[in-house]
Amino acid sequence: MSDCIFCKIISGDIPSATVYENDEFKAILDRFPSNKGHVLIMPKTHVANIFEIDPDMAGRLFKLAAQIAPVMKETFGFENMNVVQNNGPIAGQTVNHFHLHLIPRYENDGVNVSWKQLDLTDGEIEEVRAKLAGNINI
Ligand code: AMP
Ligand code: ZN
Repeated sequence: MSDCIFCKIISGDIPSATVYENDEFKAILDRFPSNKGHVLIMPKTHVANIFEIDPDMAGRLFKLAAQIAPVMKETFGFENMNVVQNNGPIAGQTVNHFHLHLIPRYENDGVNVSWKQLDLTDGEIEEVRAKLAGNINI
């Protein structure tokens, strides 16, 4: 994708602070991090979002996240982390190339990863559950 900033990072046209890469994935420091050590993991092929990524690739990417996260924890000495992955502009995705955020968290760090909670009835929960469960044929 010629207009994708992460594809340009992967091709080397735009510099990045790479912390790890293999044939399939690249892990870099976020250029505008929420906290120091905020890491992004992305596939080297252009895949826009979770609706387009091959589930096996997503599995390998998450495996890599689970390998890098404890190293970050040890390296920076934090205890808590958010793993965030945005899909589409309404969900906050600003770079249209699949990436996982690994965000170190510290007490009172001001980082906000939250949502308001709906107070649904049991009936409403069941309605939603039945609708979705009926469509999952894996
Ligand atoms: P998202 O909003 O989930 O699409 O996340 C995109 C992330 O990419 C943001 O956290 C940005 O700070 C980060 N970002 C944007 N440009 C660059 C860049 N050139 N190098 C590294 N990270 C970037
Ligand atoms: Zn791309």
